[in-house]
Amino acid sequence: MTNKSPITVAHGDGIGPEIMDATLRIIDKAGAALDIEEIVIGKEVYEKGELSGIAKESWDSLRRTKVFLKAPITTPQGGGFKSLNVTIRKSLGLFANVRPCVSYAPYVETKHPNMDLVIIRENEEDLYGGIEYRQSQDVMASLKLISRPGTERIVRYAFEYARANGRKKVTCMTKDNIMKLSDGLFHKVFDEIGQEYKDIEQDHMIIDIGAAKVASAPHMFDLIVLPNLYGDIVSDIAAEVTGSVGLGGSSNIGQDFAMFEAVHGSAPDIAGQGIANPSGLLLGAVMMLVHIGQGEVAGKVHNAWLKTIEDGIHTGEIFRAGTSKQKVGTKDFADAVIERLGAQPDKMKPANYNGVGAGGMKLPPLKPRVEEKKARVGVDINLNWDGTPDDLAAKILPCVTDNLELSIISNRGVKVWPNGQPETFCADNWRLRFLGKDGSEIKTSQVIALMDRLNQADMNFTKSVMLHTFDGKKGYTAAQGE
Ligand code: NAD
Repeated sequence: MTNKSPITVAHGDGIGPEIMDATLRIIDKAGAALDIEEIVIGKEVYEKGELSGIAKESWDSLRRTKVFLKAPITTPQGGGFKSLNVTIRKSLGLFANVRPCVSYAPYVETKHPNMDLVIIRENEEDLYGGIEYRQSQDVMASLKLISRPGTERIVRYAFEYARANGRKKVTCMTKDNIMKLSDGLFHKVFDEIGQEYKDIEQDHMIIDIGAAKVASAPHMFDLIVLPNLYGDIVSDIAAEVTGSVGLGGSSNIGQDFAMFEAVHGSAPDIAGQGIANPSGLLLGAVMMLVHIGQGEVAGKVHNAWLKTIEDGIHTGEIFRAGTSKQKVGTKDFADAVIERLGAQPDKMKPANYNGVGAGGMKLPPLKPRVEEKKARVGVDINLNWDGTPDDLAAKILPCVTDNLELSIISNRGVKVWPNGQPETFCADNWRLRFLGKDGSEIKTSQVIALMDRLNQADMNFTKSVMLHTFDGKKGYTAAQGE
């Protein structure tokens, strides 16, 4: 047998300990060679006053093993507690979240019997930076960050995953008709990297219709790659329409670390009753076994599990009189899977992980950055103001000197000066755009001088952002109606 692979295990909260025991028992009987280090995370740690939900010593174990099998935890509401999932993903650089979404009809009731898709979600960027500001009495802002290296990495991972797992088509979803720079970059990088994978069919959909299609016609998709927030939402829609949230496993993959878990949470409503379905965590553990090079054991577990589902041995939440044969609890379900180790499903397609590369995907280095000429051409200054756009412009214009000019004033992204529509509703935070005259470059000192004059005119600043061009192309968007 292979040398034992070191892994870190956390039993989590709620139903976590029950489903983790079942999972570990099954994979052990299947012959998984594991050297397990246990850590405690979640509720118990939060209650000791550790706001991150994980103790410092636990990081040492994770750094040693680099592989984490994690049961769900309960995130306490409010009180400054941080989401442990987000902390772990970001701290360990787990940039890709991979969620296979498969339906098991006719054995598990679903509206979509032919569903078999994988969702790959970018895991670190986008609105999950959590960089938010209250800009005024009325207006909150949240910063969406999409980087070229971050996007290149997730898109390449998606194409490499497709190749390694026999997926024929990769669909990217964004809202780049509205967010032309941030989502625009994600789409653009998808097209660029896609050129290197011409053997794989590829397309792009706007996220709103894309999400609707995942719910109504999931057989259209094979693999979907998305930025963080859309991925979060679409992967839950996809998991839900397979038939049960209790069936989904997921992996979080980074360059050096990987974490495997169930899609669902700690289900406090059924904790301690011995009725939870361990399948989600078990399928997460299957992904882990493939990752650590024990693909044969992974296949054995997955096929025994498929056979158990086919045989109608079901936990309560998927049990349906007529289709299901026997309603079981967590422990008996695990025993049923163990009894079937070595068996293959009769009807459903057996899993086969032989030859699937271990250690996760080794991605090539990022493409070298093509340096573009950056020129500072203006500044957006946000400020509070209660009044009309024309009155605001009248206060601002005398402050503008040098080679700057006031280009527009916008409110909630809509141009309101010059020549705004009188019907436009205005909140109390306004954006003033100053540009160099005739497209000329500007100096930081000019911006500071401008702000000084605005300050003397009692303007109440909330935020300012420098405007640049890159090789002559605008690095900022126009206001609506501009
Ligand atoms: P949940 O996924 O825990 O439960 C939703 C519903 O699905 C409940 O009715 C539950 O009984 C049922 N369910 C979930 N897993 C099941 C299983 N294996 N077998 C049978 N039924 C199952 O979602 P929630 O109630 O919104 O969240 C509960 C807690 O879990 C919260 O504290 C939340 O923050 C946390 N959570 C943790 C993770 C994680 O650790 N990865 C993920 C999501 C939610």
